[in-house]
Amino acid sequence: MGAARVGEVKGAHNRVPFLVQLVISFLLFLVEELVLYTYTRTVRKYFNKQGEHKMNSFNNRLHNEHKFAEANPRCYDWLTAAEQQNNSFAQSLYQQVERKGELSEKQLACIERNLAKANQPKQEPVSTGTIDLSDVLRRFELAKTSGIKRPRINLGDLVFSMAGDNSRNAGCVYVKGGTTYEAEYYGKVDPQGNFFAARGLDPEIAGRIINTGADLFATARAHGMKHNNCCFCSRELKTLESVSLGWGPICAERYGLPHDIESAKQLRPEFFEARDELSRLNKGER
Ligand SMILES: [Zn+2]
Repeated sequence: MGAARVGEVKGAHNRVPFLVQLVISFLLFLVEELVLYTYTRTVRKYFNKQGEHKMNSFNNRLHNEHKFAEANPRCYDWLTAAEQQNNSFAQSLYQQVERKGELSEKQLACIERNLAKANQPKQEPVSTGTIDLSDVLRRFELAKTSGIKRPRINLGDLVFSMAGDNSRNAGCVYVKGGTTYEAEYYGKVDPQGNFFAARGLDPEIAGRIINTGADLFATARAHGMKHNNCCFCSRELKTLESVSLGWGPICAERYGLPHDIESAKQLRPEFFEARDELSRLNKGER
């Protein structure tokens, strides 16, 4: 039966003239070519469009950047330099310039402030007085050898601290309005004793700094005694000696200062007299 069907088909084929077969094949070939051609054209068009879009957006960004640079040359210079230093604020502004070609008034003002700040250190500060901190510096150095990284004297609203070794002010003593990071910066004293007040420092504060610096340990001592806190590490003072001297035994050792009963007695004789008196009274009562 299978053989018969094959025969039939074969017969049918034979019935179609050869010329017609040729024409059909040719037509099929044409259709195939046409499909292929249309397909390739569409794909190519799509990718061209993509490329064009990319090109356009690149050109737009470039155009925006140029527009901004022409209008704000100084800001543009700062922006490109800061952007390359991975300043995230600058990076976000830079992206905005690329997108819009401009920044808001506020953003421009912010860049101007940064520019002004960057130009400040070039103006040499002027010494506003002298404070001999040579003794303090010697003790700070001593404290460093015993492991204190940033030796300081804390008078509550005035803090004298040593600049870090890697700072460009190494060897100087900073004067600030407190111990926190945000504390106001009042100025610095260089190793030669020149006091460079911060710009716009209240003259009253400057005067106090100069007065205090003249005998820093006496002031520190008075402060420690008054507040019951060590003038170096701010810990609570627990003994009569410590309270009289204004510093605790550990800091005394680190900063090379006395912490013995005789020194304490000399400083605050009334303390010790009062204590002895009290102890005599206590004994008498027994
Ligand atoms: Zn201490």
